[in-house]
Amino acid sequence: MKKENVIESCYSVLRKVTPLQIDCGKICKGKCCKGDGKTGMLLFPGEEKLIDPRITIMKNEKGDSVAVCDGTCDRNKRPLACRIYPLFPLINKDEGNEYIEAVFDRRADCPLVDGEYEITRCFSKAVKRAGKYLLLNSETEKYYRELSDEIQEYIALEKILKNT
Ligand code: SF4
Ligand code: SF4
Repeated sequence: MKKENVIESCYSVLRKVTPLQIDCGKICKGKCCKGDGKTGMLLFPGEEKLIDPRITIMKNEKGDSVAVCDGTCDRNKRPLACRIYPLFPLINKDEGNEYIEAVFDRRADCPLVDGEYEITRCFSKAVKRAGKYLLLNSETEKYYRELSDEIQEYIALEKILKNT
């Protein structure tokens, strides 16, 4: 599948779902959309031409594309990272078989991560589905696996810290 089609499929499955049954932005006054014109969301391969053109695209120190906004965007054209936040479709292995699990993104600065609120099933399912789509193109897959490995490292570190 072409990378743009992969991204469009991810956008589509996450179009109508939200992390909570209520507007979670009311809990934190929309913390994750408080754009400061400097920090941003990582873009997956193929997203550059699909996101709201008002969003600035920059490169980070690793050369990855990052979307930097001013705190407003066309919701239908928001990046994938904004759609899945604060979850991530983690790639896991069980006896050699891969499976995808929707987990909290350890990098997220979001009140939902504390576990006080129940994430809707439809949101978790859509995040997992997006992970499956990302595996359907070599470029999106490579990038997705790198991010997933990064989050696995955070999880491993959490376990070590817990046991010390
Ligand atoms: S995802 Fe988290 S940080 Fe973003 S609006 Fe919802 S509660 Fe706030
Ligand atoms: S691109 Fe849109 S959804 Fe993403 S942080 Fe900016 S305003 Fe929020």
